[in-house]
Amino acid sequence: MTTPNTILVTGGTGFLGSHLCKRLIKEGHRVICVDNNYTGSLDNVRELLDHPNFKFIEHNIIEPLAVDEKLDQIYNLACPASPRHYQGKAAIFTTKTCVLGVLNMLELAKKHGARIFQSSTSEVYGEPAVHPQPETYRGNVNPIGIRACYDEGKRCAESLLFDYYREEEVDIKVVRIFNTYGPYMNPEDGRVVSNVICQALRGEDITLYGDGTQTRSFCYVDDLIEGFIRMMDSPKGFTGPVNLGNPGEFSMNELAQLVIQKVGGNHKIVYRPLPKDDPTHRKPDITLAKEKLHWQPQVPLSQGLDKTIAYFRQHTEAK
Ligand code: UDP
Repeated sequence: MTTPNTILVTGGTGFLGSHLCKRLIKEGHRVICVDNNYTGSLDNVRELLDHPNFKFIEHNIIEPLAVDEKLDQIYNLACPASPRHYQGKAAIFTTKTCVLGVLNMLELAKKHGARIFQSSTSEVYGEPAVHPQPETYRGNVNPIGIRACYDEGKRCAESLLFDYYREEEVDIKVVRIFNTYGPYMNPEDGRVVSNVICQALRGEDITLYGDGTQTRSFCYVDDLIEGFIRMMDSPKGFTGPVNLGNPGEFSMNELAQLVIQKVGGNHKIVYRPLPKDDPTHRKPDITLAKEKLHWQPQVPLSQGLDKTIAYFRQHTEAK
C-alpha cells in the first residue's frame, strides 16, 4: 500500500477519468474530481459520490481553479476525445480545453508543488508515415484540418508541459494514449467500439467509414489505467512522453466481424464516407513503456470485447 495522496483528476467523470477515480479511491487516496460534464457524467462516478475520500467539483478547466487542500498529484484528463465531440461546434472549445486547460493545471501544479500527469494522445502522430509509432516520431498532422483542434491542441499542451518542466521545474509525466475501450464508454460519443457493439446489440446495420481497411490498436481500459498509475509513480525525471496502448492492430472490418460473431445474429455492414483526415493506420511501439514502467497490456481484444459487450448489454437492458 502506497502512502495516501491528495489527487486531483480533471475529466474525472469521463470514461477514463471515472475508472481512474475508482482505482485511486480503492487504493486509499483522497480524490478531487473536476469536470464540467460536457462529455462526462456523474452517473459514471455515482458509487463514489458519498465516499468520504471523494469530492466532486463542477468546473471547466478553461477557467483557473483554486483548490484549498494541498495537492500531491494532478491527472489532467479533461478534454473531449471523440471526433464527434471535438469537431464541428466544439472545435474552439476543444483547443481552449487543451491549451488554456493545461496552462491552468500547470499553474496549479506549480503552486502546490504537485506532480502533473498529462493525457496526451496518439493523435499527435497524425497520419503516421512511420509504423508502428515510437515516441521519437514527430508526426504528420494537418494543422488546419478538422482534427487539428484536438491534435494540435494536445501537441501544444505537450510543449507547455515541457516548458514548465524546463523553466519552472514542475514535475511532469506525459503519456500518449492510443484507442481505449471498455465499460463506461459513452454510447453516444460515436467511437467505433461503442458504435459497433451498440448497433449489433440493437440488431441494426453496422456502420463502417471508408472501406473498413483502416486500422487501430485497441487497449482495454484496465490495462491503460494500470499504465497511468505506473507512469505517475515512476521516478522523478522520467517525463515521457511514453506511448500507452495495445500493439494488437485490427482493421475496422476485423473489429466488426469479431463483434458480430460475439453478439450473434445477421448483421449487414454498411459503408459510409471516411471522415476527413481520418488516420489510415495506427499502432503503438511500446518498447519504452515496457522498459521504464515494466508495463504491457494483459487483456487481448477478444476478452476485452466480451467484458464491454456484457456492460452494454446490461446498460441497454436497464433502460
Ligand atoms: N469508425 C467507423 N464506424 C463508426 C465509428 C468510427 O468505421 O461507427 C472508424 C473511424 O472512421 C476511424 C476508426 O473507426 O477510422 C476509429 O474511430 P474512433 O472514433 O473510434 O477513434 P479515432 O478515429 O479517434 O482513432
